Amino acid sequence: MEVAQDFSPARRGRNSASSSPSTCAIVGWLFAYEPYKHLKNSFNIYGVLRPSPERAMDEPRQGGIYNDYCITTVDNERSKAVFIHEFGHNFAGLADEYYTSDVAYNDFYPKGVEPLEPNITALLDPAHVKWADLVSPGISIPTDYGKDARDPLLAERQKIRQARMKALADARAGKASDADLKAIETKYAELDKPIAARLDALQKKYGWLEDKVGAFEGAGYAAKGLYRPAWYCIMISSPKDEFCPVCQRAIERMVQAYTAQ
Ligand SMILES: [Zn+2]
Repeated sequence: MEVAQDFSPARRGRNSASSSPSTCAIVGWLFAYEPYKHLKNSFNIYGVLRPSPERAMDEPRQGGIYNDYCITTVDNERSKAVFIHEFGHNFAGLADEYYTSDVAYNDFYPKGVEPLEPNITALLDPAHVKWADLVSPGISIPTDYGKDARDPLLAERQKIRQARMKALADARAGKASDADLKAIETKYAELDKPIAARLDALQKKYGWLEDKVGAFEGAGYAAKGLYRPAWYCIMISSPKDEFCPVCQRAIERMVQAYTAQ
């Protein structure tokens, strides 16, 4: 049996006693984020509570396709972050802003063609960047944020971490003593020190750009040739757990398109 329930923010109190905890959690997550937060009265939300013919999923599943569907599991520690990210694809047509440091170009966005999504650009005309009106004063386009120096350091750090994990696992399998395990930890911590020092130096030089809008190379799965609006955003990863200003505006515009009289 299907039961459609109205979870619209203005009506949440009425249904709260019989609401599915999962659906309510998702509604709460969505409206904790700007710009959904200040636009929440523009949304109607319905929940269709239907027993699944499938057994409980063993693995988290996720995905979002613009104007089609967004799927996410709700009982995983990363569920909230994943849902907000995937819903960004689904609702506002946002692109992924992340990239893989060893993939310079890819086939997903053909080289030399401006992507349709509002939050990444091929920067074919740097004088007229897609989000020009939001670019912070005095920011160069493209924006040098130390990426070419930082990416190899992060890759090196990743290698050290993987080697450390393997060394620890091997040692435990061989019933190594606590002292041996500690020696392994110390060895890899020492290896990381020069990397940490160089990353700190880069942070001192470029850290002021963290809350600026510019054109930051690395987006749409490609390390080169595609640019995103800001260093951090939910569509790449965000220590502040926020959308960048360009993504926020793209979401606002989508809400306006649906709600304009
Ligand atoms: Zn963004």
